[in-house]
Amino acid sequence: MKVIIAGFNLDKTLIDKYVPCAQSTPESISAAYARISRSSKSVNELRTDSLKEIEKSRASNQTIIFEMGHASVAEHAVFNVDIIGISRYLTEFIERSRLASFTEKSQRYVTFEDDFVIPEDLDSSIKEEYIKLTQTLFKEYQSTIVTLMNNLKAREPELKKRDLETKAKEDARYILPLSTKTQLGMTINARNLENLLQRLHNLPITEAQELYRQLFDAVCHVAPSLIRYTDVKKNAYSEFDSLKPIIKARSDELVTLTAANGSEVDILAALLYEKNSITFSDALASIVSLTPVEKAKLWDSIFRDLKFWQKLPRAFEMCDLIFETVMSQCCWAQFKRHRMCSIFKTSEVCGSENVIPPSVQELEVRDKWQNLFTEVNLLIQKIKQNQPLLSNYCLTNSHPVRVMVKINLRELYHFVRLRSDQHAQWEIRKISDLMSSLTRAKYPMAAKFLMGKSSYQKLEQNH
Ligand SMILES: Cc1cc2nc3c(=O)[nH]c(=O)nc-3n(C[C@H](O)[C@H](O)[C@H](O)COP(=O)(O)OP(=O)(O)OC[C@H]3O[C@@H](n4cnc5c(N)ncnc54)[C@H](O)[C@@H]3O)c2cc1C
Repeated sequence: MKVIIAGFNLDKTLIDKYVPCAQSTPESISAAYARISRSSKSVNELRTDSLKEIEKSRASNQTIIFEMGHASVAEHAVFNVDIIGISRYLTEFIERSRLASFTEKSQRYVTFEDDFVIPEDLDSSIKEEYIKLTQTLFKEYQSTIVTLMNNLKAREPELKKRDLETKAKEDARYILPLSTKTQLGMTINARNLENLLQRLHNLPITEAQELYRQLFDAVCHVAPSLIRYTDVKKNAYSEFDSLKPIIKARSDELVTLTAANGSEVDILAALLYEKNSITFSDALASIVSLTPVEKAKLWDSIFRDLKFWQKLPRAFEMCDLIFETVMSQCCWAQFKRHRMCSIFKTSEVCGSENVIPPSVQELEVRDKWQNLFTEVNLLIQKIKQNQPLLSNYCLTNSHPVRVMVKINLRELYHFVRLRSDQHAQWEIRKISDLMSSLTRAKYPMAAKFLMGKSSYQKLEQNH
């Protein structure tokens, strides 16, 4: 056996300094790997060949990826991209790319300055009002940080300054708008980058088009054979718009378990199936024939010595759950970062009230916030009349969204471990706790250890 590191991501300044311009592309790796399936040469020889003949590599990539449809070859080329000075609104949009990795500046730990996107295409008659109101929101954010810090200090004098600041920022950020500028690091392969470019191309706002152009210009010379179809028109499913008049809206609940498919018996049967050469129905029949005590023994064996960082077996994917929930934009920013599930968000803000953190609820600041939300909502309505997409910049972190998630029990364990943890942010923790108790009621054995990672530590200490 031989293991060779064929490449890894290097800082661009080093690439510019040491790699000859003509060879400074990830295309050679994609081309070499694409040839593995049809060549008797070893992989490292294929890499040497493709590096020598970049133009030939480009031509073979084009044929293999775009003509033969072996698109996963483009996944061998990976980019790291710094995105600076982008709105939180557009950040949310790009972070829906599920097969990419992001790290974004945290509004929990960093104080945000009065720096926000003013959409170039916003009607000039509204621009001044938009700027003034956004500046007021930033001022309110700064003053809420001070108020919350003073209040916390009086209540918990033992807290260090840093902890006071973090707790205050965590809640004061609910008043910040989605126009707030932020920055992020994105790691994305060429296949997914092409998809992101297509999505950006289809978002008709100036900021998205600017990002599309800058991203495309940056990568089109580096990997022209891997990123090709970027200006495709996506289906807007506009037929569904005609159904609006017949829609009957129900009231919102914080979390509902809409459906749960698959049973605990399926999980045990899938584990048995993997260990034997039998059909799945034979495995099911064997599990069904067990007594409750025998089944309980199997469950005990699955969870024995389970640590909070250990994945549950794949058999837990036999159970799928669908939850509907209502949360703030702030919570959504965290929720949608979970990639191994299907998440849907309504495009319009639902009828619920803005989410105000409990720490703000109990102070006079609350009334100021309510008045500001009224002003923001009026401005949103004004902008919506002619430029509905641009009204999204005015939404604050506290505006409610309705979200549906389809997640399997294995991934739900991962989600709940992170989000029901004692360090988790209070709103997502509340939602995670509710999801977890609804799941435990449905799957009492399989979901027995559905809890935050801090609770695992407590369990261990008690043993
Ligand atoms: C306390 C806390 C603080 C945070 N702070 C920040 C912050 O400051 N800034 C910020 O940007 N984010 C922050 N996050 C979000 C965090 O970085 C993750 O994006 C988020 O928690 C999703 O979790 P995940 O990546 O573990 O798994 P998910 O996306 O839920 O995926 C589930 C599992 O799939 C696998 N997986 C999915 N995608 C990949 C991949 N590309 N490569 C390898 N394995 C993969 C992993 O096994 C993962 O555990 C924070 C999260 C927490 C809990």
